[in-house]
Amino acid sequence: MGSWQKGLVQGLKKAGLGYRRLALSLSHRQCYLCRQSSKDLICGYCEHFISPLTTHDNLLTSPDILKYLDTPQYDYLYAIGDYVWPFDFMVRDLKFNNKPVAGRALASLFYQRVFMLKIMAVNNVCEAPEKSDTSMLPEILIPVPLSLRRYWQRGYNQSQVLADWLTTHTHIPNAPLLRRVRHTKAQANLQKQDRINNVDQAFECCLNGDYKHIAIIDDVLTTGATMNSAARAVLEQNPHMTISVWCMAVTLVS
Ligand SMILES: [Zn+2]
Repeated sequence: MGSWQKGLVQGLKKAGLGYRRLALSLSHRQCYLCRQSSKDLICGYCEHFISPLTTHDNLLTSPDILKYLDTPQYDYLYAIGDYVWPFDFMVRDLKFNNKPVAGRALASLFYQRVFMLKIMAVNNVCEAPEKSDTSMLPEILIPVPLSLRRYWQRGYNQSQVLADWLTTHTHIPNAPLLRRVRHTKAQANLQKQDRINNVDQAFECCLNGDYKHIAIIDDVLTTGATMNSAARAVLEQNPHMTISVWCMAVTLVS
């Protein structure tokens, strides 16, 4: 073998090694939460420590949760967990750190732990018998909208990010059919009654299809004041609508 042939073989070997390294680096992923090497977005170790919220499918049937909520104007409430680690970390990442990977991880957890295990598994609608002819599955997902001012500040709507990923998983379409008609203060710093006043009549509904069951999507639910205001806007136009609320976490405060 001549020297140029040896050089060619060595070059090809190096290129092969480089290709293998590139392929490995592309397939290599880290766990979003602990940064350990993982092929999944959330590794098995972290998954193990994420506690389920409750055994109730529809959280509105749980007295322990219902006691913290303003009288719900919606029919079903589903969430993955309480607003503690890792949900507080993930929601903050999604909302304030412009990390869409957090939305992807939350939607994936919701799909695996709530949609597949609870929503798809339940067949009766005993808590709303007058609506028992409606499907358990919503026909469309509607993200809670931001005011224009907050949208311009943040650059994106975190609920829309969640709705997009949930659509990817569930194949249920989403559309921005709620509109925030006025700017409201951040709910997190307000007391219970102030939360209700803050979001009173803050939404307008522009449903334009023949829907019977919708799901409103949000990151965190505390007293449910925002959801009640959004649900009222829907029910004003569509009094017989079945409304599900899909949120990633619930903060239970008295
Ligand atoms: Zn991990």
